Amino acid sequence: MDDLFVADEIKELREKIAYHSDLYYQKAAPEISDYEFDQLVKRLQYLETKYPQYKIQESPTEKVGSDIDDESKIIPHKVRMYSLENAYTLEEIEDFYNKITKETKKMPYFTTELKLDGFSINLYYENGDLVYATTRGNGFEGEDVTQNVKTISGIPQKIDYPKPIEIRGEIFLPRSEFERINEEREKNGERIFANPRNAAAGTIKLKDPEIVKTRKLDYRVYSVGLFENNEIKSQYTLLKYFEKLGFKTLARDMKNLLKFGELNRIIEQCKFWELEKNNLEFDIDGLVIKVDDFELQKKLGYTSKFPKWAIAYKFKAEEVETQLLGVDFQVGRTGAVTPVARLEPVFISGSTVSNATLHNEDEIDRLDLKIGDYVTVIKSGEIIPKIIKVDKKKRPDKAEEINFPTNCPVCSSPLRKQEEGAVTYCSNANCPAQVQRRIEHFASRDAVDIEGLGEAVIKQLLENNMIEKIEDIYNIDFEKFANLERQGKKSAENLQKAIEKSKNQKFEKILFGLGIRYVGARTSKILTANFDNINALINASYLDFLMIDEIGEKIAQSLVDFFSDEKNLRMIENLKKIGLNMKSEKQEIKDKLSGSTFLVTGSLTNFSRNEIKNQIEQNGGRVVSSVSKKLEYLIVGENPGSKLSKAKKIDTIKIISEQEFLEMIK
Ligand code: AMP
Ligand code: ZN
Repeated sequence: MDDLFVADEIKELREKIAYHSDLYYQKAAPEISDYEFDQLVKRLQYLETKYPQYKIQESPTEKVGSDIDDESKIIPHKVRMYSLENAYTLEEIEDFYNKITKETKKMPYFTTELKLDGFSINLYYENGDLVYATTRGNGFEGEDVTQNVKTISGIPQKIDYPKPIEIRGEIFLPRSEFERINEEREKNGERIFANPRNAAAGTIKLKDPEIVKTRKLDYRVYSVGLFENNEIKSQYTLLKYFEKLGFKTLARDMKNLLKFGELNRIIEQCKFWELEKNNLEFDIDGLVIKVDDFELQKKLGYTSKFPKWAIAYKFKAEEVETQLLGVDFQVGRTGAVTPVARLEPVFISGSTVSNATLHNEDEIDRLDLKIGDYVTVIKSGEIIPKIIKVDKKKRPDKAEEINFPTNCPVCSSPLRKQEEGAVTYCSNANCPAQVQRRIEHFASRDAVDIEGLGEAVIKQLLENNMIEKIEDIYNIDFEKFANLERQGKKSAENLQKAIEKSKNQKFEKILFGLGIRYVGARTSKILTANFDNINALINASYLDFLMIDEIGEKIAQSLVDFFSDEKNLRMIENLKKIGLNMKSEKQEIKDKLSGSTFLVTGSLTNFSRNEIKNQIEQNGGRVVSSVSKKLEYLIVGENPGSKLSKAKKIDTIKIISEQEFLEMIK
């Protein structure tokens, strides 16, 4: 392959992986299946091994996907948390088995455990008390979710084990509870969760433990971090010990958790659970095979991302056949018209499905689809599943052609295709469907976060001609609003306050709210870290954008297009006049640290994690997420973590104490 193409592909893969990782770990709203995601990572891994000159330290092949979204709640793990190597074929399991037996020159025992499809959790006990609970985070440090975890019944608050111990497991929603919550959400007009995993991930980070309590989360534990105990020498005995301490383990649900050294029995287990998984009360996405003996585990060690002594056999998405009843056309915020298949409802991977996305007109052509056809559907991570094939032999005589509309189903303006062809857009920027979606996006939680300004209220405002574009929400006539149906003085007051508050949102959230194509929350954050204010973004060139890690051609072009559109510039000008924050945090600030990069390890005496971050940023510095060549200063507190040893290996990094940092900003 031509080198230039390799570099491009690598960059594109990194960009894609970062995008989907963010959707999965932080937003709990994935758009692609685990399988598709894992294949992207595997391809990148292959290219990086073959062309090591393009490898970077921050590569997603080297780190676990981070779930951290509130930096002020970070607690470092005492012992690192890892991800798991994954396999989708039984051959890969065989390879793993053979490699282990060859390397250890033994016939080691293995355990097989269900791979729970939930959210990993770290429970820290001291003197027998549950001190805190954190998420996996980036593997080195996690986010504090103690209050929420304490609402989960069955997690012991007190255990009979005095030494400090980190106990690890998975939090999940049983299927029945998932369905109950979704029914309730549907009744209240709230967005429903796509699957129990997304629901569990969305629940564990809620700000109100009272709500968490109403959702009956469950858990199982399966491993330890910090643990000083010479009696427990294997995974199997560890699970038994957990039970003795009062924890729920997977041994309860998997009666045949046993030790064995025969490959065929491992393979049998994989096949068995792939068929049996729907009979469990919770979702599993595979089976985890672990070397049982701790001594052997230690010998085998870890890569930068996973233990070499374990592997996950992951199940492929389930396929189900059903009939296509019709096709609806929906208009999104960019005007893109998406065909959505209406299906005869079928039960698939834990829930009933009646819609599937068809993406665009080309997809309909590619599938050669007609209404009335029998189609194969898979759930691939997203809210609406996908149609992957059509059984033409079963096509009914009366099957109807699908006619892609030539005019917008909402405003009747002519539809247009853009350059590359696949996607069809409504050409009317004032199309009510688009305006509605744009404002919904702007007000959403990850954008400027206006509580009370959801789908229904926006619709009401539009129908009463009180707004027609984003910036109009800052000029709402609240007296009039109070007199609208279902509204009142109180709701008007609350909305006014929420709207006022949104003006001071962080720039990254406001930027995200503008709805630039392909610019998600994460890309926004990257942009505001690299550009001081909105003017710098407006004036930046295609190449300026491309220079940034994780920004590829598609995003760069979209940014240039967005900022050269008169309408968008007018909107930005208006929002500025209204007083919305359009500056990066670092900008207002004294410049003592002028752009230097920092990272903290261990605990500090004068600052919490959030305070030191603010100090660094207010003085013009930048906090990075991990040790790499881009790091200039590592601030070392008490009980430093593995970042210190990592940093020592890179001689350009200056390792400083808290005192030295104070000197720098004095
Ligand atoms: P991944 O989500 O692909 O990084 O897979 C690794 C994750 O699987 C771990 O971080 C755990 O949260 C989860 N997991 C679920 N069940 C198990 C299990 N029995 N043993 C180890 N990890 C598990
Ligand atoms: Zn339209």
